Amino acid sequence: MLKEKSLLMIPGPTPIPPQVAAAMTQPMINHRGEAFFTLFDEVSANLRYVFRTEQPVYVFPGAGSGGWEAALVNTLNPGDKVLSVVIGDFGERWFKTAVALGFDVERLEYPAGQAVEPADIAQRLEQDVDRRIKAVLIQHNETSTGVTNDVAAIARNVRVHGALMMVDSVSGLGALPLEFDGWGLDVVLTGAQKALMCPPGLSVVAFSERARALAEKNRMPRFYWDLRAVHAAYLKRQNPYTPPVSLYYGLQAALQMIKAETIEGAWARHQLMGEMCRAGVKAMGLKLLAADEARASNSVTAVWAPIEPKVLRKTARDKLGVQLAGGQGKLENTIFRVGHLGYVTPNDVIQALVATETALAVHGQDVKLGAAAAAAQELWVKAIHG
Ligand code: PLP
Repeated sequence: MLKEKSLLMIPGPTPIPPQVAAAMTQPMINHRGEAFFTLFDEVSANLRYVFRTEQPVYVFPGAGSGGWEAALVNTLNPGDKVLSVVIGDFGERWFKTAVALGFDVERLEYPAGQAVEPADIAQRLEQDVDRRIKAVLIQHNETSTGVTNDVAAIARNVRVHGALMMVDSVSGLGALPLEFDGWGLDVVLTGAQKALMCPPGLSVVAFSERARALAEKNRMPRFYWDLRAVHAAYLKRQNPYTPPVSLYYGLQAALQMIKAETIEGAWARHQLMGEMCRAGVKAMGLKLLAADEARASNSVTAVWAPIEPKVLRKTARDKLGVQLAGGQGKLENTIFRVGHLGYVTPNDVIQALVATETALAVHGQDVKLGAAAAAAQELWVKAIHG
């Protein structure tokens, strides 16, 4: 038999549209010339559209993780106290970044599968009467557990206190509703390889006016991630160092697609895919890791694995043509994840569900073949009827 085609259903890097792949083959241009300025202007305007902000959005060549460092070194002073909220592995890594940079980091942690309780943050900030906490660090969407935090509610509490509200939306932005200006956020960072449908390599960060003003006078040593240099170059429609021009072309094409779909349309598509995936998973008799389904992510679904997850994923990949993701850290041997963000449609979700169900049947699990797809299809029909 022919080897199965391969469908990438991991929460990043995500599949890239053919338009994006083609855009990246364009000839190289002068990154200090008119053609780049025009490209830069369009990408910047469309990033503002996707972030829902009037503020500049900056593109740093780098991985998403660089955004954690950019957020911290540009707005805080050495030794400042920050509240780091951890609901999974990526929260853990941002926590470690802040510790490594020498900040005084207080940790607020929740068990895997739980979302942040906004009232807990409100309570902690109320106790901070002398305003020692300078920033709150939080994941919009915790990719490792498939849980989405209520950033709007948390931001309301943080604004009352006055600390900076810093949001890692690496697996959220472009997939899940986020209002940079409307929610009063100070820093939002993402990576291009998720819902922005591009290859890895771009760290994209928005700063509020007040965060940018802090960058002018704060005392943290920095060079590569220095917002002052990046902002000065931004005003000249370029980067301070050589930008990855081909990735800019890819991002230009991807953002044009999002613009055509509309950001609200992209959010609605991700919501449908999240609902379809959860319905299919439950129809197989499996359990979501998310403790409260209302906070389950619409960009990635984490599921308790009824058999060794590596075995399940190997069968899905090698025999059935679908790549699922494993668990991270402590969850490595207990869960698997289905990524459904970026250049992904309901058909892809159904294929991932079918592959999961088939793999479980191959390994002797008691599943009713077709049940997962049927549950997802029901929702698809409803969505088409509006
Ligand atoms: N934050 C979240 C929520 C993520 O999902 C990821 C990557 O998956 C990162 C940060 C880190 O991004 P990168 O791997 O591009 O550094």
